[in-house]
Amino acid sequence: MRLVLVGPPGAGKGTQAALLTRRLGIPAVSTGDVLEGEIAAGSELGTAARGVMQRGELVPDDVVERMVAARLGRPDAAAGFLLDGFPRDCAQAEALDTMLAAAGRRLDAVVSLTVPDAQVLERIRRRAAEQDRVDDDEATARHRLQVFTEQTAPLVARYRRQGVLVQVDGTGSVDEVAERVVAALDAKVGR
Ligand code: AMP
Repeated sequence: MRLVLVGPPGAGKGTQAALLTRRLGIPAVSTGDVLEGEIAAGSELGTAARGVMQRGELVPDDVVERMVAARLGRPDAAAGFLLDGFPRDCAQAEALDTMLAAAGRRLDAVVSLTVPDAQVLERIRRRAAEQDRVDDDEATARHRLQVFTEQTAPLVARYRRQGVLVQVDGTGSVDEVAERVVAALDAKVGR
């Protein structure tokens, strides 16, 4: 199954991605994690991306598109994958469609997790206290939410038009949300 998980920062995408991939037996591909890994490794890419990420802005499309193409080309992604944090804007969505079409494939479903802004900000604040992310202070959190609203949220309409959108209420406990996602996917693609 080829899936994309879309949602605002702090919507619980990473947590749900981990649960889903275990359940579905497909790898999770998180561009945020790959970029954090590049920063930790001190690579050229990581050094270039760090400032952009600290400001809560998007790393250039061509950089993440190349990262994703390389990752999806690995053998473990041949039977399916769950993308978390990609695509993030329309150009990336088009690049993904092109990548998949070149291999004769398409997305099976795009899960959009919806969480009200106030809850998202509260979750990010809590996470900032617990984790050591480069981009979790208050001002950056607000900016990331704005970037999501302006650049990523329009993807929902695109995927609705394509007939692959699955909208899921992202509020409540991790388990409740996971159950909703699985039920919605079952209904959509008959997994
Ligand atoms: P995330 O962990 O998905 O919230 O990503 C953390 C940060 O990594 C984002 O705020 C962006 O700066 C960068 N990033 C992750 N995925 C992408 C993407 N698909 N396109 C551009 N930037 C990204």
